[in-house]
Amino acid sequence: MSSAFASERRVALAELEREVTDCRRCPRLVAWREQVARERRAAFAHETYWGRPLPGFGDPAARVLVLGLAPAAHGGNRTGRVFTGDRSGDWLFAALWRTGFANQPQSTRRGDGLRLRDCWITAAVRCAPPANRPTPQERDTCQPWAEHELSLMPDVRIIVCLGAFAWDAALRLRSALGEATPRPRPRFGHGRELPSTRWPLIGCFHPSQQNTFTGRLTEEMLDAVLRRARALAGLAEPQPHGGGGHFL
Ligand code: SF4
Repeated sequence: MSSAFASERRVALAELEREVTDCRRCPRLVAWREQVARERRAAFAHETYWGRPLPGFGDPAARVLVLGLAPAAHGGNRTGRVFTGDRSGDWLFAALWRTGFANQPQSTRRGDGLRLRDCWITAAVRCAPPANRPTPQERDTCQPWAEHELSLMPDVRIIVCLGAFAWDAALRLRSALGEATPRPRPRFGHGRELPSTRWPLIGCFHPSQQNTFTGRLTEEMLDAVLRRARALAGLAEPQPHGGGGHFL
C-alpha cells in the first residue's frame, strides 16, 4: 500500500472513529453504557470509564478481521478499546500474540503499547448491552457502522467470527454489501469455514469465560483458528511467540 493511500485510509478510519464514538442511536444501550460508567465496579472505582461506543482497533491494512459480539460492560466500556480489560480480551490478545498478529500478549488499556499487524478487531454492536444481549433492532441499527468500516478496508481477506452472534452478523454485513448468503443459511460452528471470493468466514467459539473455563475453547483451538485465518489470508507463518518483524 502506498504511503499516500495508507494515510488516506487512516484519515477515513479516524473520521469514522469520531462518528462512531458520538453515536446515540440506541436509547437502551446509551442509558446502560452510561449507567455502568457512573456506577462502576468496586475494583475499578478509581477509574474513569469510557462509557461510549467502541471503534475498531488494529492495522488499517489488515487482511484478517476479527469480529466479536459487543463490548463488555467493565471491559471495553471501561477502557475504551475493544476486548481490552476483561478475561475474554486476555485470551484473545494472548492468542493474537502467539500467532503473530500482536506485538505483546497483554491488552490492559488504551496507550499500553499494543500494536496489531495484519489484523483488525471490531464488534457487531459497538455499545455494551445489558447481559451481553443486544436486541435484533439494536443489532440492525448498529450494522451500518460495520458496513462503513469494512468498506474502508479493502485488504480484508477473511473474517474470524467469535461466536454465533458474530457469525450471523457477518452474514448480514456481507449481504448488505452485496454478497449473497447461500441457502440454506450456513450455521455457525467452531472451525467452520464459509468460502467466498470476497469475504470468507471462519467460525471460532467466543473466548468468553463460559467457554474458556469449561474447556469448550482451549488455547490450542483458538490458535488453530487464527493460524488457519493467516493461511487463508495468504499471510506467512508466524514467528515463535509473535516476535520479530515490524509492527506499525
Ligand atoms: Fe450507536 Fe451502535 Fe451504540 Fe447503537 S449500539 S448507540 S448504533 S454505536
